[in-house]
Amino acid sequence: MMNSGQPMFIAWGPQRILLYNDGYSAMLGPRHPAAYARPFFETWPEVRDSVGSLMDRVFEGEPIHMDDLTLTLHRNGYPEETHFSFSYTPVPDEGGGVAGLFCACTETTGQVTIQRRQVAEAKRERDRLFEMSRDLFGVATFDGYLTSINPAWSRQLGRSETEIMARPFSDIIHPDDLAATGDVVATLREGKAVHQFHVRLLKADGTPIAYAWSAVPEADVASWSFYTVGRDITEDLRREEIVRQGHKMEAVGQLTGGLAHDFNNLLQAAHGSLDLILRRPDDPERVARLARNGLQATERGAKLTAQLLAFSRAQKLELRPTDMTGLIAGMNEILLSSAGPLVRVAVDEVRPGLGVMADPTQLEMALLNLAINARDAMPEGGDLTIEIAERMVDAESRPSAGAYVEISVSDTGTGMPADVAARAFEPFFTTKGVGKGTGLGLSQVYAMASQAGGTARIERHLPRGTTIVISLPLVRTAPEAAPDHAATGPSVTYEARKVLVIDDDPDVRRFLSASLESLGFDVVVAEDGERGLAALESAEPDLLLVDYAMPGMNGAQVAALARARRPRLPIVFASGYSETAAIEEAVGPTAVLLRKPFGVSDLEAVLGDALGTR
Ligand code: ADP
Ligand code: MG
Repeated sequence: MMNSGQPMFIAWGPQRILLYNDGYSAMLGPRHPAAYARPFFETWPEVRDSVGSLMDRVFEGEPIHMDDLTLTLHRNGYPEETHFSFSYTPVPDEGGGVAGLFCACTETTGQVTIQRRQVAEAKRERDRLFEMSRDLFGVATFDGYLTSINPAWSRQLGRSETEIMARPFSDIIHPDDLAATGDVVATLREGKAVHQFHVRLLKADGTPIAYAWSAVPEADVASWSFYTVGRDITEDLRREEIVRQGHKMEAVGQLTGGLAHDFNNLLQAAHGSLDLILRRPDDPERVARLARNGLQATERGAKLTAQLLAFSRAQKLELRPTDMTGLIAGMNEILLSSAGPLVRVAVDEVRPGLGVMADPTQLEMALLNLAINARDAMPEGGDLTIEIAERMVDAESRPSAGAYVEISVSDTGTGMPADVAARAFEPFFTTKGVGKGTGLGLSQVYAMASQAGGTARIERHLPRGTTIVISLPLVRTAPEAAPDHAATGPSVTYEARKVLVIDDDPDVRRFLSASLESLGFDVVVAEDGERGLAALESAEPDLLLVDYAMPGMNGAQVAALARARRPRLPIVFASGYSETAAIEEAVGPTAVLLRKPFGVSDLEAVLGDALGTR
């Protein structure tokens, strides 16, 4: 022991008399040489508490090892932090007891220093990432406050760090994204991580920035906090939008061929019918038949444009609680006629008061599209069944949890092979020949459902028959009477009701006055806004029917001036789909719209509503 370079000592007897070698004297510093042959704790009083009981155990026969003891040594003439591990070994006496304690000390200062340097380096790197990153790093509590954030937050949002942390983080979240954030926080609270969710933050000036976030809850639940990282995805979204636009243009290109063909066909039908009427106008039965043909063709055209508009989203969706009983009853006839004579149609009884949140016109069109698809799939005939059921959706599924109404449209037709089913909802995907299919039917169904907060899916597609399920948010409605599509002549008489018609198109004016007169109205016409407003004074009409798109003053401007003079005058706008938003902006959501193209019965219905006679 005395010849070893490694520090060693012996503590001998009950007094723990200290004997040591030269290696150990360096550790004693100025306590050497006085410490030699003196009791251990006389030299080391400061470690009596930590080491005393350990030594006692060694004297009872138990060897003990201690790792990393920190000591301040003066071995080089100045105080120095050092690290040692000690191993205490009992030295037996002849009688089987313990006479002393032998200790070998190993210095670990070098390893400890290296380890410390590595840890510090790693921390410095992490801090640098934290400081430099353009991504937002944050720690937040479930009470809704950020407790630690990196500088990117203030750099990107133009808000000070204190401001960001002083207020609940919901204050800087885009209001439309608060609900989604709530869902994410709930998931984190359950101890689950959430990735790739999009939430926009608001800059100090209110401009939103889109971020994709990941978040993980702190492993220790009691800490009540989570870590989150957000990446600015403005640029990604912009690029995606460009690609999407590109696809759309491509799709529109593809479409043109098919559509031009379709339109030509129906123009041909309308043109032909009118031509035939002109040639022999004096046979009323034949005229009526030809007029019906012509009408059918234009109705098909109107459906086509409506589908196109729905696709381009130019048409504003008007979501409202829609009673299913009324809607289905109103569609009975059109469903029967579009299914054709070979198909048996069965429609479920709808429970009264069951309604959905949807745009009723779009929903009708969707059902019609499904009926037409079913008919096409059953050229030899078959069964078309419409079923309506309530369903609760739990939190795991999409769309979000809640009560839904599922409208299933089933047929017993050819069914869809898997590859067709996989693409059937794509716009312009069709397996039908040119002029037969546009590929817009199911895409309209899907767009309608998802815009209303629901979904559409193909339930069963093989071996025979198809079921398409539209699922829409459930609402309770007061059952309304089914609109009476079958009505022919005027159902109410509008005696002494005077309508002022303002339209720049002479054909439309002629059509309107003839129709209105046939319904029993008095009619005054004007060809532009100025003349119309003059007639408003002179003729004192009970209702104003005004075209929206006109040279000079447009319909909304005319309406505003007319309202100023006659605040209680009912005003009806004749407009194309795409003008809805502009009219509502000018007149408010209460604007009454008569959508082009319209027929006499539509005219009667809308005017009746506006006059409060229905
Ligand atoms: P289109 O009817 O104009 O072809 P859709 O979007 O309505 O366009 O339908 C897309 C395709 O999906 C159809 O061409 C057809 O192949 C398939 N499909 C849709 N509905 C049915 C159905 N009820 N039975 C069989 N196949 C269908
Ligand atoms: Mg179709």
